[in-house]
Amino acid sequence: MQNIEKNLSAINHQIESAALEFKRKPGDIALLAVSKRKPTEDIRNAYACGQRDFGENYLQEALDKVDELSDLDIVWHFIGAVQSNKTKQLAQSFDWVHCIDRLKIAKRLSDQRPQSMPPLNLCIQVNVEQEASKAGIRLDEVDQLAEQIADLPGIRLRGLMAIPAPQDDFESQRKPFSQLRQALERLNHKGLDCDTLSMGMTHDMPAAIAEGATLVRIGTAIFGERL
Ligand SMILES: *Cc1c(COP(=O)(O)O)cnc(C)c1O
Repeated sequence: MQNIEKNLSAINHQIESAALEFKRKPGDIALLAVSKRKPTEDIRNAYACGQRDFGENYLQEALDKVDELSDLDIVWHFIGAVQSNKTKQLAQSFDWVHCIDRLKIAKRLSDQRPQSMPPLNLCIQVNVEQEASKAGIRLDEVDQLAEQIADLPGIRLRGLMAIPAPQDDFESQRKPFSQLRQALERLNHKGLDCDTLSMGMTHDMPAAIAEGATLVRIGTAIFGERL
């Protein structure tokens, strides 16, 4: 508990100081606590410190946690790969899905979103550097997919997400984040009204904030190394 509390406070301070350094409002940057492979007790502890947004990668683990923690007012984000035969559980249990890279998945989520719930928030995953090992669409495919997704009734397209390859120096880290920001600006020029750049993890958070991240996804720096 003590560690999580300390870690959360340190991360929130880092967000604040990076925001000030790069002339951004700290309140425009939300912290998503990535709790994959960590016990629900850790989530309860972070929640007790005021953290509300949590991200999970593995569907069955995530669904078990949503169920076990249903007494808490958590905003749940799914940040893992989405299989098209598992969209119904996502549409019923989550507030956000970050890794959309196909129209078919977005359509299924829209159709399966219960009408009693607000639209499901989606981000399109972009493979900025076109790494063979990674999911996500190319930068030059963003406009078309975004336009196709934006009109679906059960979802709300919020923006773009990326997981660039780890780099050690700040300027190299900034580059793909800058490209993602420009892609989002283009969507907004076209009138799509997107407000989210989901980018930045434990090792590259300040560079993501420098380039306009609105949602940083942090696991290790809050909950410690994953086994
Ligand atoms: C695991 C994960 C994170 C968190 O990574 P850390 O390096 O532990 O901060 C963020 N985003 C995605 C998509 C992840 O899978």
